[in-house]
Amino acid sequence: MTHQSATPVSRRADGRRTCSAHRTDGEPCRGLAIRGAAVCTVHGGSAPQVKLSAEQRIRDLVDPSLNRIQKTIADDDNPQLALAAARDILDRAGYKATEKIQQDGRTVIEIEYVARTLELPGTDE
Ligand SMILES: [Zn+2]
Repeated sequence: MTHQSATPVSRRADGRRTCSAHRTDGEPCRGLAIRGAAVCTVHGGSAPQVKLSAEQRIRDLVDPSLNRIQKTIADDDNPQLALAAARDILDRAGYKATEKIQQDGRTVIEIEYVARTLELPGTDE
């Protein structure tokens, strides 16, 4: 990917990206961009090549994201963030971590595996 937009990325309060296109009156489109792309469905986001490119862009971010999470989990300087990252990964992998505080004040974390099929990028037909 070499395309870089000169327009700063605009996001809604919920973090979702807004469309980078402009309406015919020159005002910016306030539509919701499709995931992985800069445009809404009205401004090309429903075109097959745009959808495919958006999916590929997201797939390309999976490995760097996992590497970043792995580094976060191994970071002893921020144990709270490391624990949150570890829990998130365990949850997504089908493991449920439950935390119980015993009467003696000790915290016990039990991890239960909930079998489900992981959907990995690039494995679909
Ligand atoms: Zn738009």
